[in-house]
Amino acid sequence: MSQGPFLHELVGSMSTGAAGNPTVAMIEAAFACHGLHWRYVNMEVEPGDLAAAVRGAKAMGFRGFNCSLPHKVTVIPHLDGLGESAAVMGAVNCVVRRGDQLIGENTDGKGFLKSLQSVIDPRGKSIVLFGAGGAARAIAVELGLAGAGRITVVNRSQPRGEELVGLLRDTLGLAADLVVWNGDYAVPSGTDIVINATSIGLYDRQARLAIDLDSLAPGMVVADVIFNPVRTRLLDDAAARGCRTIDGLGMLVNQGIVGVGYWTGVEPDAAAMRTALEAAMGV
Ligand code: NDP
Repeated sequence: MSQGPFLHELVGSMSTGAAGNPTVAMIEAAFACHGLHWRYVNMEVEPGDLAAAVRGAKAMGFRGFNCSLPHKVTVIPHLDGLGESAAVMGAVNCVVRRGDQLIGENTDGKGFLKSLQSVIDPRGKSIVLFGAGGAARAIAVELGLAGAGRITVVNRSQPRGEELVGLLRDTLGLAADLVVWNGDYAVPSGTDIVINATSIGLYDRQARLAIDLDSLAPGMVVADVIFNPVRTRLLDDAAARGCRTIDGLGMLVNQGIVGVGYWTGVEPDAAAMRTALEAAMGV
């Protein structure tokens, strides 16, 4: 980790549309804040070039890299091993060099969990999770590993919902059930945590989640994965009903914090990273 003045350690981000990735500013703010001579570099990698790109990153001594869609699953055969939650999810968004091995981790769910744990411990809690895509899967697995009591997955597509519930039950032994989502969903009384892990609301302040707002009770924690806008309609509606709310920007910052921690061994400054991310995103 100690660097000479002219030598930079490298981490990267492999995606198919790397230009303008605002997380670069956030990660490099963490390096700058801690005086680390590291660089975080965007690399546009086509699916057919992924194997060569991973071999190249390893050969050039990269300390790790993030990868986004469509590489999150296809990167796995090119790695030397997987962390626990990445193995359960079957998806990797953060690769870490440990010794001479490249190990795949998933920081999406860990970032969410870190945000959640600043407000409530999910252990033993009853949770309603909207969505069954990649973000929902990462969050649900991490909640399961953290000891969640029950997860009700509410999803529009039944097959995708069933796949996630099956994973939670069969692999983690979790109490999980599926509600196929059509019409306004009434959150059962006794629910502790409600999470929107769908893409509803992204770049659309007016987008409405089909939920019966009267079923939201004070004391419930309501979290949204949507990071732009930072305050979604769901969060405002939930706050107006006395719920504690958690925004998706915190999740994005926290997944960055977990990644920087994996790569550098440093627990980076959250405020510096959030400020840099907000500036880069213009929010
Ligand atoms: P996916 O495409 O994998 O999944 C999308 C989910 O949203 C599915 O469950 C889908 O349901 C549901 N959905 C989308 N539109 C509708 C609709 N109109 N009505 C009902 N359900 C709908 O996306 P991801 O899981 O990868 O991402 C979800 C969101 O999370 C994105 O907005 C992404 O930006 C955000 N995200 C935020 C992160 C953060 O750090 N804050 C990290 C990662 C993601 P169905 O299965 O029926 O199609």
